[in-house]
Amino acid sequence: MSDNFISFIPRNPNFIPTRDSGEEAAKAFRAARPFLDEVESNVEPHIVLHDCGGNFEDIRCPHCNAVIEIETWREWMDADSTEQDGFRLAPVTMPCCFKTANLNELRYSWPMGFSRFAVRARNAGSEVPPDLVDRLEKILGCELRVIYQHI
Ligand SMILES: [Zn+2]
Repeated sequence: MSDNFISFIPRNPNFIPTRDSGEEAAKAFRAARPFLDEVESNVEPHIVLHDCGGNFEDIRCPHCNAVIEIETWREWMDADSTEQDGFRLAPVTMPCCFKTANLNELRYSWPMGFSRFAVRARNAGSEVPPDLVDRLEKILGCELRVIYQHI
């Protein structure tokens, strides 16, 4: 038995909406997808990764689109984070073109991202249309990245 999760995270990893708007966003998503199993808005004490699970394909450089080796990415992840403080998202030098980017700026397929805040729903159906993302962005007061996680 596998589950699919849809997470909405702020494009700015440090952004935290008000508690009320977080709950309102979760409610609005439930209203649009009444069949979902559960939905909650959550704030972590520090920045965490929201991964795409089994939907993962590859990671690319945001400047030149070269594929980043998973081993390299794992090293960056280890160096950037501690269990106590989470991720710092410090810039790293791309091995392909020597430009810099932080972990949240890499091109993940499928999308992944880093944040403290997330609205996360279990078994909420297929791709979220742009107008629904717009509505949640207005409620939360921030731009969102949508992450589809298969586990
Ligand atoms: Zn590059």
